[in-house]
Formats: sequence, structure tokens, C-alpha cells
Amino acid sequence: MAKPAETRTAGRKAAAKSTRSAAETEKIRAALAARHDELRAEYDQTLSEITELQRDRLTDSAGDDQADTGTKTFEREQEISLANSILERITQVERALERLDEGGYGWCERCGNPIPVERLAAFPSATLCVTCKQLAERR
Ligand SMILES: [Zn+2]
Repeated sequence: MAKPAETRTAGRKAAAKSTRSAAETEKIRAALAARHDELRAEYDQTLSEITELQRDRLTDSAGDDQADTGTKTFEREQEISLANSILERITQVERALERLDEGGYGWCERCGNPIPVERLAAFPSATLCVTCKQLAERR
């Protein structure tokens, strides 16, 4: 008879609060990983648009008047701020994944209940369950 795997419980003490099932944790991890890939692709796309705008500016700016130059600068700034906000969301997802590994992710900061997987998938940075969120908004 094979010895049952004991290594799994070794490094991981169960939290004092109620625990999430391993299957649920995996579901959250998968949702976060999918979101991470999505954001990454979006970010790459935005970066290549910035590069393109930059190239346009360098190659065909000769015939541009002041207004054209202004529009292009504006477009580029828009893209850059979009890229920054995507990067921020990527960081949030990465932090969520780290906290998930530590067991500190996905719990409502207010009532301590687990935040539903669906909610975390939609809002990886959610720190309140729907009930508490609604209560907080009502004030
Ligand atoms: Zn709550």
C-alpha cells in the first residue's frame, strides 16, 4: 500500500476562520490566471498601439499642422494612461494570486465571510462581499 501524501498538509496550517475548499481555491486561481492573461494581452496590444502612434508621429509629421500634432499627442497620452491602468489591474491580480497562496485572499474584510468565487472572478480586487459592499454604499 502506498503511503498517503503527507507533504500537502505540512507547510499549510488551516486558517482560524472557516476554510474554503481546495476546489474553490483552484477555481479562484484559474479565474485570476485567466484574468491575468487577458490583461496581459490587452496591455501588449496597447503598447503596440503606442509604438505605432509614436512611429506615425516620427514618419509623417512633416505635413502636419499644429492641430494634427496636438491630436496625435493627445491620442498617445490616452493610450499611455490606458496602458498604466491596465498595468495597475495586472498588479492587483498578481497581488491577489500571492494572497491566495497565503490563504489571505477572498475573505470579506468586514464580516470575514468568504467572497463568492464568481464575484472574485469579475472583480479580482474585491475586498468586501456583496452584502457588505451594499451596506457600505448605502451610507
Ligand atoms: Zn461581508
